[in-house]
Amino acid sequence: MNENPKGKEFRADLHCHTTCSDGSLSPTELVKLAKEVGLSGLAITDHDSISAYSSAIPVAREMGLELISGIEFSAHYKDVSVHILGYSFAENDVNIFDLCQRHCVRRESRNRAILDKLKVNNMPISMEEVQACVFHPDSTIGRPHIALAMVKKGYVSSVLDAFKKYLGEERSCYVRGLNISVEETVEIIHRAKGLAVIAHPHLIKHPHLVEQMLKMNFDGLEGYYANFFPAQNDRWIKLAQKKGWIITGGSDFHGDIKPNISLGASWVSEDVFRILQKHYANNKNSN
Ligand code: AMP
Ligand code: ZN
Ligand code: FE
Ligand code: FE
Repeated sequence: MNENPKGKEFRADLHCHTTCSDGSLSPTELVKLAKEVGLSGLAITDHDSISAYSSAIPVAREMGLELISGIEFSAHYKDVSVHILGYSFAENDVNIFDLCQRHCVRRESRNRAILDKLKVNNMPISMEEVQACVFHPDSTIGRPHIALAMVKKGYVSSVLDAFKKYLGEERSCYVRGLNISVEETVEIIHRAKGLAVIAHPHLIKHPHLVEQMLKMNFDGLEGYYANFFPAQNDRWIKLAQKKGWIITGGSDFHGDIKPNISLGASWVSEDVFRILQKHYANNKNSN
């Protein structure tokens, strides 16, 4: 939750997912909902995908919602999975496209390895059954889709149950997959002239990892996250201020998959949005 009084007139949610990854609303539905809940600006940050933008851009233009580019890349730092947000690159940037393609390959083999482990644990699921839980032909397929297939087959009671018992990090059916490092991900975002932001530092379990990441070449940190209280965000906001980084924020809205989080639960004010939008406009013009 934000407390920034300046944000009352203009609010931009910089972290949300569509059916192009593990969200339950299509890009069009998400843009419409953003207008409905009174947002003025939006960045869609699907996991390892920018597919949402081809349909979201014309709808946002039509509805008068300011949209800038965004993505949430999966990465590894010292064997731990972390998320990195990228903003303001041109959607047709080849560096971003190539990294998305590499993640596609990584996910394909990682998902198969997870299904192998589930089979060994007497919970057979075919790739077709997972695909039946995906809502968009261009979607990245992830653990939430596997979790939905597990619910459908009656192996677990809910998506959360699937993560808690089998799919979460350090659980019996978790597979990390090919390693794409934090350093390389930041470098690729920068090659695309985008801004690299540490996503939800609140959720990184190992304090020493955060310390190392704070020494890296990031441009910002997600200080306002989901429906966290100001006290939970404070530490991160202070750290980012100390470094002179951009403080971003967003809900991490996924729709039905995480029903307790609503779009716009966290947001940034106009001044922050304009910084990102200026980079975006420059990159679009030079492409
Ligand atoms: P993947 O990108 O396939 O590794 O899946 C990661 C996504 O799974 C995250 O971005 C969340 O949307 C979801 N997720 C991760 N951990 C949990 C959890 N404990 N409960 C529910 N969803 C989770
Ligand atoms: Zn997700
Ligand atoms: Fe994330
Ligand atoms: Fe996210």
